[in-house]
Amino acid sequence: MLRPPTLFGHEAAGRIIAVGAGVAGWSVGDRVVANNSAPCFNCFFCRRQEYSLCANLTFNNGTFAQYLKVPAAIVQHNLLPIPEDLPNAIAALTEPLACVLHGVARSSLQPGQRVVVLGDGAIGLMFVGVLAQQGAKVLYLAAMSPACRWANNWGQRKPLTTASSDVPAVVRELTEGMGADIVIEATGIPAVWSWRSPVPVQEQR
Ligand SMILES: [Zn+2]
Repeated sequence: MLRPPTLFGHEAAGRIIAVGAGVAGWSVGDRVVANNSAPCFNCFFCRRQEYSLCANLTFNNGTFAQYLKVPAAIVQHNLLPIPEDLPNAIAALTEPLACVLHGVARSSLQPGQRVVVLGDGAIGLMFVGVLAQQGAKVLYLAAMSPACRWANNWGQRKPLTTASSDVPAVVRELTEGMGADIVIEATGIPAVWSWRSPVPVQEQR
Protein backbone atom coordinates (compact mmCIF):
# COMPACT_ATOMS: atom_id res chain seq x y z
CA MET A 1 0.00 0.00 0.00
CA LEU A 2 2.74 2.41 0.97
CA ARG A 3 6.27 2.76 -0.33
CA PRO A 4 9.08 2.67 2.23
CA PRO A 5 10.56 4.61 3.86
CA THR A 6 7.28 5.28 5.60
CA LEU A 7 5.91 5.70 9.11
CA PHE A 8 4.78 2.60 11.02
CA GLY A 9 1.54 1.77 12.78
CA HIS A 10 -1.99 2.49 11.64
CA GLU A 11 -4.31 1.81 14.57
CA ALA A 12 -4.63 4.47 17.25
CA ALA A 13 -6.75 5.64 20.14
CA GLY A 14 -6.10 8.58 22.42
CA ARG A 15 -7.09 12.00 23.62
CA ILE A 16 -7.31 15.14 21.49
CA ILE A 17 -4.71 17.72 22.56
CA ALA A 18 -5.25 20.22 19.73
CA VAL A 19 -7.93 20.84 17.11
CA GLY A 20 -7.06 21.96 13.57
CA ALA A 21 -8.56 24.98 11.81
CA GLY A 22 -11.92 24.15 10.28
CA VAL A 23 -12.55 21.10 12.48
CA ALA A 24 -16.05 21.06 13.95
CA GLY A 25 -17.64 18.70 16.46
CA TRP A 26 -14.48 17.73 18.35
CA SER A 27 -12.88 19.35 21.40
CA VAL A 28 -9.58 19.17 23.26
CA GLY A 29 -9.90 16.35 25.81
CA ASP A 30 -12.22 14.13 23.74
CA ARG A 31 -11.14 10.47 23.60
CA VAL A 32 -11.19 9.19 20.04
CA VAL A 33 -10.23 6.27 17.85
CA ALA A 34 -8.84 7.28 14.45
CA ASN A 35 -9.45 4.54 11.90
CA ASN A 36 -6.60 3.67 9.60
CA SER A 37 -7.80 5.24 6.36
CA ALA A 38 -10.51 7.25 4.64
CA PRO A 39 -11.84 6.86 1.08
CA CYS A 40 -11.99 9.76 -1.39
CA PHE A 41 -15.76 9.33 -2.12
CA ASN A 42 -15.05 10.41 -5.70
CA CYS A 43 -13.25 7.65 -7.64
CA PHE A 44 -14.68 4.84 -9.80
CA PHE A 45 -15.06 2.47 -6.83
CA CYS A 46 -16.22 5.06 -4.28
CA ARG A 47 -19.03 6.09 -6.63
CA ARG A 48 -20.15 2.43 -6.45
CA GLN A 49 -19.85 2.46 -2.64
CA GLU A 50 -16.94 -0.04 -2.80
CA TYR A 51 -14.94 2.13 -0.43
CA SER A 52 -12.38 -0.55 0.49
CA LEU A 53 -11.25 -0.51 -3.17
CA CYS A 54 -10.77 3.30 -3.27
CA ALA A 55 -7.84 4.24 -5.49
CA ASN A 56 -7.04 7.37 -3.45
CA LEU A 57 -7.20 6.23 0.19
CA THR A 58 -5.84 8.63 2.79
CA PHE A 59 -3.74 6.64 5.27
CA ASN A 60 -3.09 7.28 8.94
CA ASN A 61 0.38 5.77 9.21
CA GLY A 62 2.63 6.77 12.08
CA THR A 63 0.49 5.65 15.02
CA PHE A 64 3.43 4.07 16.84
CA ALA A 65 4.33 7.63 17.88
CA GLN A 66 3.05 9.16 21.11
CA TYR A 67 1.56 12.12 19.26
CA LEU A 68 -0.17 11.95 15.91
CA LYS A 69 -1.59 14.52 13.49
CA VAL A 70 -4.68 12.85 12.05
CA PRO A 71 -5.24 13.68 8.35
CA ALA A 72 -8.28 15.84 7.59
CA ALA A 73 -10.11 13.15 5.58
CA ILE A 74 -9.92 10.75 8.51
CA VAL A 75 -11.05 13.42 10.99
CA GLN A 76 -13.98 14.12 8.70
CA HIS A 77 -15.07 10.54 7.95
CA ASN A 78 -13.41 8.01 10.25
CA LEU A 79 -12.90 9.49 13.71
CA LEU A 80 -15.09 7.92 16.41
CA PRO A 81 -15.72 8.85 20.06
CA ILE A 82 -14.64 6.26 22.66
CA PRO A 83 -17.16 5.33 25.37
CA GLU A 84 -16.00 6.27 28.88
CA ASP A 85 -15.57 2.67 30.06
CA LEU A 86 -13.64 1.39 27.02
CA PRO A 87 -9.82 1.34 27.41
CA ASN A 88 -7.73 2.86 24.59
CA ALA A 89 -5.90 -0.42 23.98
CA ILE A 90 -9.18 -2.12 23.04
CA ALA A 91 -10.70 0.89 21.27
CA ALA A 92 -7.66 0.99 18.95
CA LEU A 93 -8.83 -2.36 17.50
CA THR A 94 -12.14 -0.89 16.26
CA GLU A 95 -11.26 -0.94 12.57
CA PRO A 96 -9.78 -4.49 12.40
CA LEU A 97 -12.73 -5.81 14.43
CA ALA A 98 -15.10 -4.04 12.02
CA CYS A 99 -13.33 -5.80 9.12
CA VAL A 100 -13.85 -9.15 10.86
CA LEU A 101 -17.55 -8.50 11.56
CA HIS A 102 -18.02 -7.40 7.94
CA GLY A 103 -16.25 -10.56 6.72
CA VAL A 104 -18.41 -12.83 8.89
CA ALA A 105 -21.56 -11.02 7.68
CA ARG A 106 -20.54 -11.48 4.04
CA SER A 107 -19.78 -15.19 4.60
CA SER A 108 -23.50 -15.85 5.26
CA LEU A 109 -22.48 -18.10 8.17
CA GLN A 110 -25.14 -20.50 9.47
CA PRO A 111 -24.88 -21.93 13.02
CA GLY A 112 -22.98 -25.22 13.06
CA GLN A 113 -21.17 -24.63 9.79
CA ARG A 114 -17.59 -25.83 9.64
CA VAL A 115 -15.07 -23.06 9.23
CA VAL A 116 -11.35 -23.04 8.56
CA VAL A 117 -9.34 -19.94 9.51
CA LEU A 118 -6.00 -19.50 7.77
CA GLY A 119 -3.66 -17.22 9.70
CA ASP A 120 -3.36 -16.45 13.40
CA GLY A 121 -2.54 -12.75 13.39
CA ALA A 122 -4.86 -10.29 15.12
CA ILE A 123 -7.44 -10.63 12.32
CA GLY A 124 -7.38 -14.46 12.28
CA LEU A 125 -7.74 -14.64 16.06
CA MET A 126 -10.62 -12.14 16.06
CA PHE A 127 -12.29 -14.26 13.36
CA VAL A 128 -12.03 -17.33 15.63
CA GLY A 129 -13.61 -15.38 18.50
CA VAL A 130 -16.48 -13.91 16.45
CA LEU A 131 -17.16 -17.16 14.56
CA ALA A 132 -17.33 -19.15 17.80
CA GLN A 133 -19.64 -16.52 19.32
CA GLN A 134 -21.95 -16.80 16.30
CA GLY A 135 -22.23 -20.58 16.49
CA ALA A 136 -19.68 -21.70 13.92
CA LYS A 137 -17.67 -24.84 14.48
CA VAL A 138 -14.14 -23.60 13.88
CA LEU A 139 -12.30 -26.72 12.77
CA TYR A 140 -8.88 -25.51 12.05
CA LEU A 141 -6.66 -22.51 12.57
CA ALA A 142 -3.53 -22.48 10.46
CA ALA A 143 -1.28 -20.97 13.07
CA MET A 144 2.33 -19.97 13.11
CA SER A 145 2.69 -18.78 16.70
CA PRO A 146 1.74 -19.76 20.26
CA ALA A 147 -1.05 -17.18 19.91
CA CYS A 148 -3.39 -19.99 18.82
CA ARG A 149 -3.54 -21.03 22.46
CA TRP A 150 -5.66 -17.92 23.06
CA ALA A 151 -8.07 -19.03 20.36
CA ASN A 152 -8.57 -22.33 22.16
CA ASN A 153 -10.09 -20.40 25.03
CA TRP A 154 -12.69 -18.79 22.79
CA GLY A 155 -15.44 -21.36 22.90
CA GLN A 156 -13.64 -24.13 21.07
CA ARG A 157 -14.53 -27.64 22.17
CA LYS A 158 -11.25 -29.18 21.13
CA PRO A 159 -7.80 -27.75 20.52
CA LEU A 160 -7.26 -26.20 17.14
CA THR A 161 -4.63 -27.68 14.90
CA THR A 162 -1.49 -25.68 14.28
CA ALA A 163 0.60 -25.14 11.18
CA SER A 164 0.95 -27.96 8.68
CA SER A 165 2.79 -28.19 5.40
CA ASP A 166 -0.31 -29.54 3.64
CA VAL A 167 -3.31 -27.61 4.95
CA PRO A 168 -5.79 -28.80 2.26
CA ALA A 169 -4.97 -32.42 3.23
CA VAL A 170 -5.54 -31.68 6.93
CA VAL A 171 -8.86 -30.01 6.13
CA ARG A 172 -9.91 -33.01 4.01
CA GLU A 173 -9.11 -35.30 6.92
CA LEU A 174 -11.11 -33.16 9.37
CA THR A 175 -14.17 -33.06 7.09
CA GLU A 176 -14.50 -36.65 5.83
CA GLY A 177 -13.15 -35.45 2.50
CA MET A 178 -15.89 -32.87 2.01
CA GLY A 179 -14.02 -29.62 2.79
CA ALA A 180 -15.08 -26.73 5.01
CA ASP A 181 -18.28 -24.75 4.53
CA ILE A 182 -16.37 -21.49 4.85
CA VAL A 183 -12.66 -20.71 4.63
CA ILE A 184 -11.35 -17.43 6.04
CA GLU A 185 -8.08 -16.31 4.47
CA ALA A 186 -6.34 -14.07 7.00
CA THR A 187 -2.70 -14.37 5.98
CA GLY A 188 -2.57 -11.94 3.06
CA ILE A 189 -0.15 -14.32 1.32
CA PRO A 190 -1.04 -14.78 -2.39
CA ALA A 191 0.14 -18.42 -2.39
CA VAL A 192 -2.45 -19.23 0.28
CA TRP A 193 -5.28 -17.69 -1.77
CA SER A 194 -4.61 -20.21 -4.53
CA TRP A 195 -4.87 -23.35 -2.39
CA ARG A 196 -7.28 -25.66 -4.16
CA SER A 197 -10.63 -26.69 -2.79
CA PRO A 198 -10.16 -30.07 -1.11
CA VAL A 199 -13.33 -31.43 -2.74
CA PRO A 200 -12.77 -33.09 -6.12
CA VAL A 201 -15.12 -31.87 -8.85
CA GLN A 202 -17.54 -34.60 -9.88
CA GLU A 203 -18.11 -35.41 -13.51
CA GLN A 204 -21.28 -34.07 -15.09
CA ARG A 205 -23.64 -36.75 -16.38
ZN1 LIG B 1 -12.21 6.64 -3.83
